[in-house]
Amino acid sequence: MQWIDVRSDTVTQPTPAMRQAMFDAVVGDDVYGDDPTVQELERAAAERLGKEAALFVPSGNFGNQLALLTHCRRGDEVILGDDCHIVWHETGGAAVIAGVQLRTIASPDGVLSAAEVAKRIRIGDDIHHPHTGLICLENAHSNGRVIPLAAMQAVAEVAAAHGVPVHLDGARVFNAATYLQCDVRDITLHADTVMVCLSKGLAAPVGSILAGPAGFIARARKNRKLMGGGWRQAGVLAAPGLIALTEMSQRLAEDHANARYLAERLATLPGVTVDLASVEINMVWFRLADSVDVARLMATLTEAGIKANPPEAGMMRIVTHWQVGRAEIERVLAALQQALVG
Ligand SMILES: *Cc1c(COP(=O)(O)O)cnc(C)c1O
Repeated sequence: MQWIDVRSDTVTQPTPAMRQAMFDAVVGDDVYGDDPTVQELERAAAERLGKEAALFVPSGNFGNQLALLTHCRRGDEVILGDDCHIVWHETGGAAVIAGVQLRTIASPDGVLSAAEVAKRIRIGDDIHHPHTGLICLENAHSNGRVIPLAAMQAVAEVAAAHGVPVHLDGARVFNAATYLQCDVRDITLHADTVMVCLSKGLAAPVGSILAGPAGFIARARKNRKLMGGGWRQAGVLAAPGLIALTEMSQRLAEDHANARYLAERLATLPGVTVDLASVEINMVWFRLADSVDVARLMATLTEAGIKANPPEAGMMRIVTHWQVGRAEIERVLAALQQALVG
């Protein structure tokens, strides 16, 4: 059976063009610095993201933690949203790897208030205080929301006024750029460093990019080795990464349109509440009424060949990507209709 997988955009499989590129990739030993395909990817990524240099890393989680380790000293404080990926989904790595303290701020719809950030930046040299080492933003937020450019700019200005660097968790920054109809550089402009996942909606099998100033990336390259991320014939992974960066980043509007279509149709089903205004990228969150038989709903989806994550606290998420087009969405809707209407 051909499964329809709507659990996440991490499930995307490499496209036929990516598999061919992997097969054909010219490789070297990237720890020696002579894998030409990795070098091509790093050059292209730096250019695309408007940064001096870029580094290819195994995952988004790795890239974020590497950024914390490279920006901060042990005991530094990092200011970030209380619902961001680094806080929730990176296994407490910030305490283990960089040895930093996370100072979280409420971030409604993923937006950090510049005034709230400013209040938390440590001023002066009181010996009791940790040093503020970094501010982290996330765009698009993993809750599916896109942060307006003005909100990012306001935080960047506060950060610059205090000499604190900004790191952008841009796992889905191309989704954000697509939604905002801007160049991705208009977003990355507001951060010193940025991490971008090639392996989510962009469909590469493995890998993320950490981009920033040349000196920072040189230090990050050494820290990547320390973290066990020095890789050898990685050109076979960089080759599909290049296609992710240059081609797959151009087609995300299709995923967004499919998510919106799904949301609008879902809104007509009994027992479902969708906040249509919150559907900005390739994610649809919806609330199921307490009366919905969740076990039956999940069984119906499985029988129809659909992999979906069960609801958490009544909220269910469906994610669209290159392997979930209109026809697949119709099948998901039909299964949900069957479970909800009977
Ligand atoms: C998925 C994600 C990551 C981590 O990426 P992995 O490649 O899964 O490690 C980091 N930040 C955000 C916002 C994400 O959505």
